[in-house]
Amino acid sequence: MDTLPDLSRLLAEYPVVANFLSLIVMPGLDLERRRVYRELARQIAAPDIVLQLVPHRAIEPLYELSNTTADNEWLQVLCPAFGRVLQVHRLEVTWYLPPELAQLASWLADRTATVYNRLANHDPAPVASITEEPWQMTGTCYGLPAVRTRRVYPKLQHDNTPTDTEAEQMGDCNKFFKTYSRNKLAGGILVLWCTHSICLGFHTIPIAEGRNDVFSAIYTRFPQAPDVVVYDFACQLAPYSLVREARYFANTRFLIDEFHARDHSKCGQACFASNVMQYDERIRAVNTSAGECGNQGIGRIRKSVSYMNYEHAVLYTKAFMDVWNRMVARRIARQQGV
Ligand SMILES: [Zn+2]
Ligand SMILES: [Zn+2]
Repeated sequence: MDTLPDLSRLLAEYPVVANFLSLIVMPGLDLERRRVYRELARQIAAPDIVLQLVPHRAIEPLYELSNTTADNEWLQVLCPAFGRVLQVHRLEVTWYLPPELAQLASWLADRTATVYNRLANHDPAPVASITEEPWQMTGTCYGLPAVRTRRVYPKLQHDNTPTDTEAEQMGDCNKFFKTYSRNKLAGGILVLWCTHSICLGFHTIPIAEGRNDVFSAIYTRFPQAPDVVVYDFACQLAPYSLVREARYFANTRFLIDEFHARDHSKCGQACFASNVMQYDERIRAVNTSAGECGNQGIGRIRKSVSYMNYEHAVLYTKAFMDVWNRMVARRIARQQGV
């Protein structure tokens, strides 16, 4: 490499990032350091919402890191890309964090806090008891009762057309665009699975809406948002959910399981379950493919359901799910020797 890339424009607009990048292109940099620095740089440059890379809970540890430059082992669980950088520095005889990285930590914390504070301007609706029509009629059947209704977000231009078909509101994920922009997506069934592949509930959808189906199912049923949501399009579900209910989802991780990671070529590593697993024992312990396993089970009834009228399809799906759950529960009981 004879000439370094021209960083002057970046230096003017984002001096902290430019200084960090010049650290990477510095001749003679240790290979392992270069690798983890580059990975962090790539994740910063990814088109995803910054809260995927730096969850709300990581803001404080990042500030601490920048103020004291003392090692922070907690950060790696929250922000694995930064964690890997710290880990490489931990291999040195004496702990030392270059000032470029301390400044980057503070810049990332600032960015995240700004985005979060701008979004988090309301609490989730309080838990209330909601009268529901019987599931046989609505095709919506969850083990958890509805505790909220989905709000309308009048400040969001496209919120009243919940279907994900328009390119401009679809973000940068090429896989998401390919799947939903075709506009010929028929309806189907959305199922929420727990990590044991037990069906927590389902709802039938006349026209697949994409992210709103998942967002609404969680927001209206879970008094508190789950810690982890695994979804094929987590990269797009995260901004969709955070823009609407940032406080409710402040501590939720939106992840894509390994089965679906392949076509998300533009999406940042921070969206993938594999990225988080290295440091987060809870995510390593749970089966992030539980949903995939369950959805394959559903595949068995897809064809027969397609020939039924609506009422029969709902009843049949419910019966299938009941049997499925019972089988899974019995298998778990057997494994535990109960
Ligand atoms: Zn994606
Ligand atoms: Zn479970």
